[in-house]
Amino acid sequence: MSDNTASRRTFLAAPLALQAVPPASSSPSSSITTKVLGRTGLQVTTVGFGTMITSDASVIERAVDLGINYFDTARTYQSGNCERMVGAALKTHRKSLILSTKTGKEDKDGALQDLETSLKELQTDFVDIWYIHAKSRSAQLTEERLEAQRIAKQRGMIRFSGVSTHAGFDDIIPAAIQSGAIDVILTSYNFTMGAAIDPLIVSAKKAGLGVVAMKVMAGGFRRVKPGDPLYPTFKKDGVFPAALRWALRNPNIDTTIPSITDHDQLDENFRCMGAPFSSSDSKLLAEQRDYIRPLYCRACGACTGVCPKGLPIPEILRHVMYAEGYGQFAMAREHYLELPQAVRDVRCQDCETCAVHCPNQVAVAQRLMRAQELLA
Ligand code: SF4
Ligand code: SF4
Repeated sequence: MSDNTASRRTFLAAPLALQAVPPASSSPSSSITTKVLGRTGLQVTTVGFGTMITSDASVIERAVDLGINYFDTARTYQSGNCERMVGAALKTHRKSLILSTKTGKEDKDGALQDLETSLKELQTDFVDIWYIHAKSRSAQLTEERLEAQRIAKQRGMIRFSGVSTHAGFDDIIPAAIQSGAIDVILTSYNFTMGAAIDPLIVSAKKAGLGVVAMKVMAGGFRRVKPGDPLYPTFKKDGVFPAALRWALRNPNIDTTIPSITDHDQLDENFRCMGAPFSSSDSKLLAEQRDYIRPLYCRACGACTGVCPKGLPIPEILRHVMYAEGYGQFAMAREHYLELPQAVRDVRCQDCETCAVHCPNQVAVAQRLMRAQELLA
């Protein structure tokens, strides 16, 4: 282990609550705000950093300089390369930062092997939060997965356990609470989602869990360029900071992890800390909600099991969002190709009519055809 890497002994001896780093003098104007992440006691900046699509380590390094202290990654991000970049960017500051990663492995041994690899790539002896990655059903919180988290805690490889979720909130969030083993929930949460998720978040908070919000930009769509027919709708000035401020206004959200790819986005997000959600933000988001309605699946679950050909619709729509919203075609295709062959073989154009009617007006068949055209 290098001198710059926090040791397991060091963190076990350290107090739980961390202090936020004061902003550097060259920072964009903002006041750093922090919250306690539920029973973990971790003091997190309310704007964290999601590294899933970051490919410039200097953006991560500058986020640390600005005072952002929570960074999230996963074993599988960027085909397993993301953790290496994050580890290199953060290693000199590890002791003052909060770091999380995830495993998608089903079996205990596979999950623990994933964690060993994560720690090596991240150049650290431990992560603060280790999430079970992207689960939407209570049945997926298996004893194998929870046992892996228990063992990892006992070995000092992780401090706290979590689960991340993009869908099935009314099943997975209560299950995480009832398990008694999950310390943190990482959930999709944005301005397109109805009020149904709010009481679930409240109950998680009441049970002492930390709540982290992701997908706060509702699909991003940052990569649309001037001249693109979508540009006037998706690149409206102020929409993305407004979306972040919308999530931050909820007192039960402890922190957020917007994806950040460049310094402009970093500055934009950083300035949202401590900034109020305004009536003009509300107006912008209402317009944006209308614009993205046919495209953005908010994973409400209403179409689960409806397609007679068995398509996992929210999952596929998330993949095509990665391609067209996040501008991450390779990642989108990689995810898509992990779907079962029988799913990948389906072509929506072969159906005379679509059996799925989205209550949120997503143009389901068209979006699926787009996914099949781009990613199959
Ligand atoms: S496509 Fe529509 S019904 Fe299906 S999960 Fe998404 S928002 Fe809900
Ligand atoms: S068009 Fe509709 S019913 Fe047909 S495969 Fe696609 S989602 Fe299923």
